[in-house]
Amino acid sequence: MKIAFFSTKSYDRESFLNHREGFNHEFSFFEVGLDHKTVALAEGHDVICSFVNDPVDEFILKKLAQFGIKLIALRCAGFNQVNLEAAAKHGIRVVRVPAYSPEAVAEHAFAILLTLIRKTHKAFNRVRENNFSLEGLTGLNIHGKTIGVIGTGAIGKAFCRIAKGFGAKILAHDLYPSEEMVALGVTYLPLQKVIEQSQIISLHCPLTPETRHLINSKTLSYMQKGVVLINTSRGALIDTKATIKALKTKKIGFLGIDVYEQEEHIFFKNLSEEILEDEQISRLMTFPNVLITGHQAFLTHEALAQIATTTLENITAFEKGEILQNEVKKV
Ligand code: NAD
Repeated sequence: MKIAFFSTKSYDRESFLNHREGFNHEFSFFEVGLDHKTVALAEGHDVICSFVNDPVDEFILKKLAQFGIKLIALRCAGFNQVNLEAAAKHGIRVVRVPAYSPEAVAEHAFAILLTLIRKTHKAFNRVRENNFSLEGLTGLNIHGKTIGVIGTGAIGKAFCRIAKGFGAKILAHDLYPSEEMVALGVTYLPLQKVIEQSQIISLHCPLTPETRHLINSKTLSYMQKGVVLINTSRGALIDTKATIKALKTKKIGFLGIDVYEQEEHIFFKNLSEEILEDEQISRLMTFPNVLITGHQAFLTHEALAQIATTTLENITAFEKGEILQNEVKKV
């Protein structure tokens, strides 16, 4: 199959080229994202492979259908960026990589959490300037804390296992509680109870109409003063405006985010020579207790290998007319 890859970076190209053996597919790598103009590049291909911030709307789907494309292979787990209803209408099937090293994301959530509460990013800068003072570096233990996990799918489960190792008490909320997690010692409670009782909250549910702005002024009001909030899932789970307000009132003690509500205009690009026009992310960056990473939680060698292999397997299964195990459909 001829595959048009959009939004590719050097690490994507390297990983797909390294894992192409055994698959009989041809690759065209485009650095540009998929949009109303660049969709023209898909002509002459059989499949397009896009990423998290490539919105696949009705216009794009119509064009893809005109080019005879019948498969979109997402090289990510989330699929909120695709209009699945329109895809079905235009006879285009959508596959994804449901689980590529969930540990990669869960470990990054912990990396952000530990950096924030032990202030290692500040210590790193100080020591490089021969400043060995410990003033202002007092941190928090995770041991003995109550951690609330919203969403215990593949990543949330991996997060709970790590939290268990730290000796935390784990509360969770999910539409489908996991017996495996209950056996691990996780207590499932309604959302409000988890939010009220946790000193650390980590978000691991997908972005859906129900979870959009799950963290808002109301849910923030239930939280404990000084709560640590971590989001490695999707930016729009958090109402950024309400969160900035909660940082100003010190309701939120620390905020660690790998995803941001308006990230599609900012993330995955080097904007170091540009003026950032996004007022909200600029405000977030002024807080000393906020740590932002640019959607890199998935970025490990192990996860990239899994993404490439599963994507190529998904495309091969489609080519052979086999059952698409990783298909996503509008429910
Ligand atoms: P998953 O499908 O395995 O698990 C999601 C869990 O959320 C499920 O158990 C589901 O029941 C639960 N859920 C759904 N709606 C809910 C609600 N309203 N309240 C509580 N729980 C709810 O997905 P996963 O692989 O664990 O990934 C979770 C999310 O992480 C993805 O949707 C994606 O947005 C994000 N993600 C981010 C990165 C990154 O690099 N930052 C990488 C991969 C995935």
